[in-house]
Amino acid sequence: MNDCLFCKIRDGEIQGDIVFDDDDVLAFNDVNPQAPVHVLIIPKRHISTLNDLTDGDEAIMGKLFSVAKTIAAQRGVSEDGYRLVVNCNQKAGQTVFHIHMHLLADRVMRWPPG
Ligand code: 5GP
Ligand code: ZN
Repeated sequence: MNDCLFCKIRDGEIQGDIVFDDDDVLAFNDVNPQAPVHVLIIPKRHISTLNDLTDGDEAIMGKLFSVAKTIAAQRGVSEDGYRLVVNCNQKAGQTVFHIHMHLLADRVMRWPPG
Protein backbone atom coordinates (compact mmCIF):
# COMPACT_ATOMS: atom_id res chain seq x y z
CA MET A 1 0.00 0.00 0.00
CA ASN A 2 2.88 2.39 0.78
CA ASP A 3 4.20 1.80 -2.73
CA CYS A 4 0.90 2.68 -4.36
CA LEU A 5 1.42 5.28 -7.09
CA PHE A 6 -2.06 6.74 -6.79
CA CYS A 7 -1.84 6.98 -2.99
CA LYS A 8 1.36 8.98 -3.56
CA ILE A 9 -0.44 11.33 -5.96
CA ARG A 10 -3.26 11.64 -3.39
CA ASP A 11 -0.70 12.49 -0.69
CA GLY A 12 1.21 14.95 -2.88
CA GLU A 13 4.36 12.83 -2.88
CA ILE A 14 4.11 12.56 -6.67
CA GLN A 15 2.85 15.44 -8.76
CA GLY A 16 -0.55 14.99 -10.35
CA ASP A 17 -2.44 17.26 -12.74
CA ILE A 18 -5.50 17.36 -10.50
CA VAL A 19 -8.87 18.29 -11.96
CA PHE A 20 -11.18 17.34 -9.06
CA ASP A 21 -10.59 16.99 -5.33
CA ASP A 22 -12.99 16.50 -2.43
CA ASP A 23 -13.09 14.47 0.78
CA ASP A 24 -13.66 11.15 -0.96
CA VAL A 25 -12.53 11.39 -4.56
CA LEU A 26 -9.54 12.68 -6.52
CA ALA A 27 -9.28 13.03 -10.29
CA PHE A 28 -6.26 13.87 -12.40
CA ASN A 29 -5.24 13.80 -16.04
CA ASP A 30 -3.64 10.58 -17.24
CA VAL A 31 0.10 11.00 -17.85
CA ASN A 32 -0.16 8.93 -21.06
CA PRO A 33 -3.52 9.99 -22.51
CA GLN A 34 -5.32 7.61 -24.87
CA ALA A 35 -7.80 10.29 -25.97
CA PRO A 36 -7.85 14.11 -25.99
CA VAL A 37 -9.69 13.87 -22.67
CA HIS A 38 -8.32 11.13 -20.41
CA VAL A 39 -8.94 11.60 -16.71
CA LEU A 40 -8.43 9.07 -13.90
CA ILE A 41 -10.96 9.20 -11.07
CA ILE A 42 -10.01 7.43 -7.84
CA PRO A 43 -11.44 6.87 -4.39
CA LYS A 44 -9.08 8.54 -1.91
CA ARG A 45 -9.19 5.43 0.24
CA HIS A 46 -6.91 2.74 -1.12
CA ILE A 47 -8.81 -0.17 -2.68
CA SER A 48 -6.65 -2.35 -4.93
CA THR A 49 -9.15 -3.82 -7.40
CA LEU A 50 -12.86 -4.27 -7.96
CA ASN A 51 -12.43 -7.70 -6.34
CA ASP A 52 -11.55 -5.97 -3.08
CA LEU A 53 -14.82 -4.06 -2.75
CA THR A 54 -16.74 -4.83 0.41
CA ASP A 55 -20.17 -4.01 1.79
CA GLY A 56 -20.37 -0.28 2.22
CA ASP A 57 -18.28 0.58 -0.82
CA GLU A 58 -21.36 1.14 -2.98
CA ALA A 59 -21.47 4.84 -2.15
CA ILE A 60 -17.88 5.58 -3.09
CA MET A 61 -18.16 3.61 -6.32
CA GLY A 62 -21.34 5.46 -7.17
CA LYS A 63 -19.59 8.71 -6.45
CA LEU A 64 -16.93 7.94 -9.06
CA PHE A 65 -19.72 7.99 -11.65
CA SER A 66 -21.09 11.28 -10.33
CA VAL A 67 -17.66 12.88 -10.49
CA ALA A 68 -17.18 11.53 -14.02
CA LYS A 69 -20.43 13.18 -15.04
CA THR A 70 -19.27 16.49 -13.52
CA ILE A 71 -15.87 16.38 -15.21
CA ALA A 72 -17.41 15.43 -18.56
CA ALA A 73 -19.62 18.50 -18.33
CA GLN A 74 -16.68 20.71 -17.35
CA ARG A 75 -14.69 19.44 -20.34
CA GLY A 76 -17.65 19.96 -22.68
CA VAL A 77 -17.95 16.35 -23.81
CA SER A 78 -21.25 15.36 -22.21
CA GLU A 79 -23.34 15.61 -25.34
CA ASP A 80 -20.84 14.18 -27.83
CA GLY A 81 -20.19 11.28 -25.46
CA TYR A 82 -17.55 9.69 -23.33
CA ARG A 83 -16.46 6.29 -22.11
CA LEU A 84 -15.89 5.13 -18.53
CA VAL A 85 -13.62 2.12 -17.97
CA VAL A 86 -12.47 0.25 -14.88
CA ASN A 87 -9.90 -2.46 -15.54
CA CYS A 88 -9.69 -5.33 -13.06
CA ASN A 89 -6.50 -7.36 -12.86
CA GLN A 90 -3.95 -8.31 -15.48
CA LYS A 91 -5.97 -9.66 -18.38
CA ALA A 92 -8.13 -6.54 -18.37
CA GLY A 93 -5.01 -4.38 -18.48
CA GLN A 94 -4.90 -3.09 -14.91
CA THR A 95 -1.41 -1.78 -14.21
CA VAL A 96 -1.99 0.41 -11.16
CA PHE A 97 -3.55 -1.49 -8.29
CA HIS A 98 -5.62 1.30 -6.76
CA ILE A 99 -9.13 1.34 -8.24
CA HIS A 100 -9.51 4.03 -10.87
CA MET A 101 -12.13 4.93 -13.41
CA HIS A 102 -10.87 6.11 -16.80
CA LEU A 103 -12.88 8.93 -18.38
CA LEU A 104 -12.06 8.97 -22.09
CA ALA A 105 -13.54 11.43 -24.56
CA ASP A 106 -13.22 13.75 -27.52
CA ARG A 107 -12.59 11.08 -30.11
CA VAL A 108 -14.64 8.28 -31.64
CA MET A 109 -14.41 5.11 -29.54
CA ARG A 110 -14.43 1.69 -31.14
CA TRP A 111 -16.26 -1.38 -29.92
CA PRO A 112 -15.32 -3.92 -28.77
CA PRO A 113 -12.35 -2.39 -26.96
CA GLY A 114 -9.02 -4.06 -27.61
P1 5GP B 1 -4.77 0.81 -15.78
O1 5GP B 1 -3.96 0.24 -16.92
O2 5GP B 1 -4.28 0.33 -14.44
O3 5GP B 1 -6.24 0.68 -15.95
O4 5GP B 1 -4.52 2.38 -15.83
C1 5GP B 1 -3.42 2.99 -15.23
C2 5GP B 1 -3.28 4.35 -15.85
O5 5GP B 1 -2.43 5.13 -15.05
C3 5GP B 1 -2.67 4.34 -17.26
O6 5GP B 1 -3.59 4.93 -18.18
C4 5GP B 1 -1.39 5.15 -17.10
O7 5GP B 1 -1.12 5.97 -18.22
C5 5GP B 1 -1.67 5.97 -15.86
N1 5GP B 1 -0.49 6.35 -15.11
C6 5GP B 1 0.57 5.57 -14.81
N2 5GP B 1 1.46 6.25 -14.08
C7 5GP B 1 0.93 7.51 -13.92
C8 5GP B 1 1.40 8.68 -13.25
O8 5GP B 1 2.47 8.73 -12.64
N3 5GP B 1 0.60 9.78 -13.30
C9 5GP B 1 -0.60 9.77 -13.96
N4 5GP B 1 -1.30 10.90 -13.96
N5 5GP B 1 -1.08 8.67 -14.59
C10 5GP B 1 -0.30 7.56 -14.57
ZN1 ZN C 1 -3.42 3.42 -3.34
